[in-house]
Amino acid sequence: MHRENLELLDDSLGIKILIQDYKAYGVEFIRDGKKFKATASREVVISGGSINSPQMLILSGIGPKEHLNELDISVIQDLPVGKNLYDHQIYMAYLLSHGLLTVASAFTVDGYESLKKKDFVQMTEENWQAISKPLAGKYMLGVFPILLHPKSKGTIKLKTKDLLDFSLLDSNCYSDNNSEDMKEMLSAIKDVFRISKTPAFQSIDSKYVSDPLPACSKYKHLSDNYWRCALKQLTYPSLHPVGTCKMGPKSDKTAIVDNKLKVHGISELRVADASIIPVTLAAHTTAASYMVGEKASDLIRKEH
Ligand SMILES: Cc1cc2nc3c(=O)[nH]c(=O)nc-3n(C[C@H](O)[C@H](O)[C@H](O)COP(=O)(O)OP(=O)(O)OC[C@H]3O[C@@H](n4cnc5c(N)ncnc54)[C@H](O)[C@@H]3O)c2cc1C
Repeated sequence: MHRENLELLDDSLGIKILIQDYKAYGVEFIRDGKKFKATASREVVISGGSINSPQMLILSGIGPKEHLNELDISVIQDLPVGKNLYDHQIYMAYLLSHGLLTVASAFTVDGYESLKKKDFVQMTEENWQAISKPLAGKYMLGVFPILLHPKSKGTIKLKTKDLLDFSLLDSNCYSDNNSEDMKEMLSAIKDVFRISKTPAFQSIDSKYVSDPLPACSKYKHLSDNYWRCALKQLTYPSLHPVGTCKMGPKSDKTAIVDNKLKVHGISELRVADASIIPVTLAAHTTAASYMVGEKASDLIRKEH
């Protein structure tokens, strides 16, 4: 790429947004083990994604006051960064079956085998044994109920002040006041059984098989209470996090950026990535993230 007005630095890790008098003027970054500063003549745009953008903001003093105090970071702007984590929540169910729709050992297809099985999804050994043993080496269908619009909100916090340390993610799944998320998922699980019993699926001998999960064995196997317990054991975020630097007007106490993607209370600083998406999407998130990038470039060109 030969453009006079663009310089890209690979292998560079942004560690801090430089801010003075509530105005962003650059970033500090590490390259080849050395620290550098890049200053901005106009503005700074952070696009680290839903996990890293909030991390970068918090490390720079923009975040929930109490969390910044915990980390001993000086508060520049008290905003609820990382407090609005939404993700699609998924339960991975498998039906024993045969024929064209099936795959041999879906666990391999899902990457469990190659990614050391349970470690991929942080599954306990007991749960892994309960669900994988009855299916091992057989043909199966994967049927994955997904909560596209969870009511439960999670959080991202920092463990330490070191950007290289992983953040603490809590999806806070099934924590909504009226247990609507649980009701939705339970109803989806029932749909899986209903579909499995249709003549079409019975013609390929579709059948749910799993040993009871040890933590849920006190409930009658496959009863509603069993499923409420199993869903809590084996529901996973599906890697579509949004909302951690939520877009919204200043009057919205959960918002971080305005509708021009500018951080409330700090000038010359925008966030442009999936983290600004304020609500859950009934879709995968890449296309919407591209759209955020396109919109950001339009806004920036218009302004400068
Ligand atoms: C395993 C996996 C599978 C997925 N599959 C799909 C799918 O099939 N379809 C779909 O639509 N979506 C999928 N998604 C979701 C999709 O990838 C994200 O929604 C999308 O990439 C978000 O775009 P983004 O620009 O917000 O963040 P990202 O794509 O994560 O981009 C952020 C970039 O910033 C860089 N970065 C972060 N911190 C720093 C820093 N401090 N300094 C410098 N650079 C930094 C990162 O390396 C990264 O390149 C998947 C996600 C995962 C994790």
